[in-house]
Amino acid sequence: MGTTINLNVHNFKHWLGKPARDFDVLRFDANNNCNIHCVYCAIQRSSELISFDDFRIFLSESIASAGVFQFGCQMEPTLDARLCDFMTAVSQSPAKPKKLFRLQTNAILLHRHDHGRMLEAGLNFLTVSMDSVDSETF
Ligand code: SF4
Repeated sequence: MGTTINLNVHNFKHWLGKPARDFDVLRFDANNNCNIHCVYCAIQRSSELISFDDFRIFLSESIASAGVFQFGCQMEPTLDARLCDFMTAVSQSPAKPKKLFRLQTNAILLHRHDHGRMLEAGLNFLTVSMDSVDSETF
């Protein structure tokens, strides 16, 4: 049985340097911001980012395997121009997921990223979610 975590700017330092382990599900936010303000979402935001170099160290030292790797969990991953770099790094590491390589997004900025690179990295599951309390807007 592996580990399930949500990895983000708040806990990344805690996981950096840990011995390699098997992850069932690893959900990852490299940035700490969103481009929507859903009325019910009270999550604190900031411009803080996870360093790409630190992320590569984490991939090489702290992951033995992953079942599911998900970009985007509590924040919007397409706000980060480095998204494809992170995906490629995952695909070239032990974190390359055995089952699902997932992107969770509101898709507003998805066109700014290289979809070919995403597919090359092994992305095989895209989930788009948008919410509004107003049914006509939704
Ligand atoms: S899209 Fe998600 S993270 Fe962004 S405001 Fe809405 S619920 Fe919060």
